[in-house]
Amino acid sequence: MDQLTDASGKYTVAPLPFPYDALEPVIDAKTVELHYNFHHKPAAAAANKAEEALVKARDSGDFALVKHYEKELAFQLSSHILHTIYWSNLSGKGGVPKGDLAKAIAAEFGSYDKFKAHLVAASTTVEASGWGMLGYHAATKKLMVLQCENHQKLTAWGVQPLLLLDVFEHAYYLKYQNRRAEYLNNLFNIINWDNVAERYDASRA
Ligand code: MN
Repeated sequence: MDQLTDASGKYTVAPLPFPYDALEPVIDAKTVELHYNFHHKPAAAAANKAEEALVKARDSGDFALVKHYEKELAFQLSSHILHTIYWSNLSGKGGVPKGDLAKAIAAEFGSYDKFKAHLVAASTTVEASGWGMLGYHAATKKLMVLQCENHQKLTAWGVQPLLLLDVFEHAYYLKYQNRRAEYLNNLFNIINWDNVAERYDASRA
């Protein structure tokens, strides 16, 4: 459901699913504009660059910088993937989860309120830059809340992100400065739960 590449296989960033000001007043238009153009787009370009460098390394047999480019690929491609999901997770709509997703959240976390408190706390306390995540782990049929540092650390293999909360300072600092928890609580007013539910259904299929 996420468009990550063009027809040739190069990483490319899909258009934002809404205008820059669609998330006001929770996220201001300037933050969305800067975030999308100067944080998300360069990640896709850098992931392409890393893959191209690895092609050259294989062709030349010179792997002197292989560690550098593997780290670049993991960081930049993960950034591209997570940002693509983040934009789709947000809309002006808000509300609460419905249907199977609502039932699964209540079963796994005790209640929606306990889930929300857990995800906000986990996201608020991510060390430095990263993400809070609600994910689904198909192999164990569990919903789980995870912290992610940077874009690629502290996941559990096989977890499919359903809902991602970006806690890099670029996501909130213009409006909220140091008040990360306030940004996160407000973010809950603009979550596109239909998108989260679609991802949950797709992960279980
Ligand atoms: Mn970001």
